[in-house]
Amino acid sequence: MIYKRSSELFASAQKVIPGGVNSPVRAFKAVGGDPIFIKRAEGAYLYDEDGNKLIDYINSWGPLILGHAHKPVIDAVIDIAKKGTSFGTPTEIETKIAELAVKMVPNIDKIRMVNSGTEATMSAVRLARGFTGKEKIIKFAGCYHGHSDSFLIQAGSGAITFGTPNSPGVTQGTAKDTLLAKYNDLENVKSLIEVNKDEIACIIIEPVPGNMGCIPPDNGFLEGLRELCDDHSILLIFDEVMSGFRLAPGGVQERMGVNADIACFGKVIGGGLPVGAFAARNEIMDYLAPVGPVYQAGTLSGNPLAMAAGLAMLTELDNNRSVFKSIDKKTAYLHEGIEKVLLENNVAHTINRVGSMISIHFGEEPVVDFESAAKSAGNGIFNKFFHGMLENGIYIAPSAFETWFISDALSYEDLDATIETVNKVAKTL
Ligand code: PMP
Repeated sequence: MIYKRSSELFASAQKVIPGGVNSPVRAFKAVGGDPIFIKRAEGAYLYDEDGNKLIDYINSWGPLILGHAHKPVIDAVIDIAKKGTSFGTPTEIETKIAELAVKMVPNIDKIRMVNSGTEATMSAVRLARGFTGKEKIIKFAGCYHGHSDSFLIQAGSGAITFGTPNSPGVTQGTAKDTLLAKYNDLENVKSLIEVNKDEIACIIIEPVPGNMGCIPPDNGFLEGLRELCDDHSILLIFDEVMSGFRLAPGGVQERMGVNADIACFGKVIGGGLPVGAFAARNEIMDYLAPVGPVYQAGTLSGNPLAMAAGLAMLTELDNNRSVFKSIDKKTAYLHEGIEKVLLENNVAHTINRVGSMISIHFGEEPVVDFESAAKSAGNGIFNKFFHGMLENGIYIAPSAFETWFISDALSYEDLDATIETVNKVAKTL
């Protein structure tokens, strides 16, 4: 495939935008080469500036669970845009999406809308600190919770891809309040709690991480965290920005039957527009301004266009819950097909999957935490694989630490074409 115009556009972009992109992973820096500039998208496909058609496994990094330019979402946005783009006042549609989210997600009474996943997790931690009166937080190495200061400590996703999991610009003071634990290691969490007795406000976790590839939680791990939190008056925050409204209507809380105290959302809840949200039971949410003392705000929070897109998306998912089964089934089919061709071609690999989140690691050892994910990512095979797939019109995330997001717009023909491409590329690895 030819990507000439994309390269020209990238050259122009680099003159006026840092690195030519507004979010680092898009720059292809980890895998090499120039990023692809997309002109439009529909269903399972991206169409780039050179006229290439690509099968998309990023889906805007997760939100587009029903595919690109899904008609009910687009229609809802067009309709509401004609009435004005922002009022800075309450609107009825905010209550409607909140009612639907509260109905779909277990264990929450109220939800507050923000503009990104970063804002959701940042606000959730402030709320947890305000509610408990404690300052320290525990996060897990390789989990990414957006780019606010307290989270850029051994963060996953773009932060590891660029080798800056601990970003300059984050003060020592902030860093010291973030304690780092190993994913899937309860003993490690226990000892952090012992050493910092009565100082920990919350444990924040991607219950099914997608930012060091996809990592399934070991049996009993999330349940164990729940118990530790109950025993030590610590709030458990599930960052369901990736998993929410994807792994089940009620996210991991529903799928795995473990309750969080605060749940954070992003991606699907905005239907592709900039939306994040955090939610909890009344006693916690009523700690927020204007009812309670913890301040949090946003000029464009609950923006009509974003709410219309989100409401259209959640309504579709709520009315047609077979979608969740369908994407899981498609992902299982892809998993099986890729596994088979990698075995046939003697390519060492580990495939991790939970529902419609899947990642391929080019190493034989199990990938269970950040250390094991980093080990397999370090061997350079992924970069070759990425470019092989791209050359053949399959667009996967340009980093070994990312998860593939399956949309229901993908047909079984698309999946077969993808498996066949993996077969072809495997021969070159
Ligand atoms: N939490 C998780 C689990 C994420 O995957 C992301 C983004 N990929 C975020 C938070 C941050 O969301 P945003 O990029 O919308 O700020």
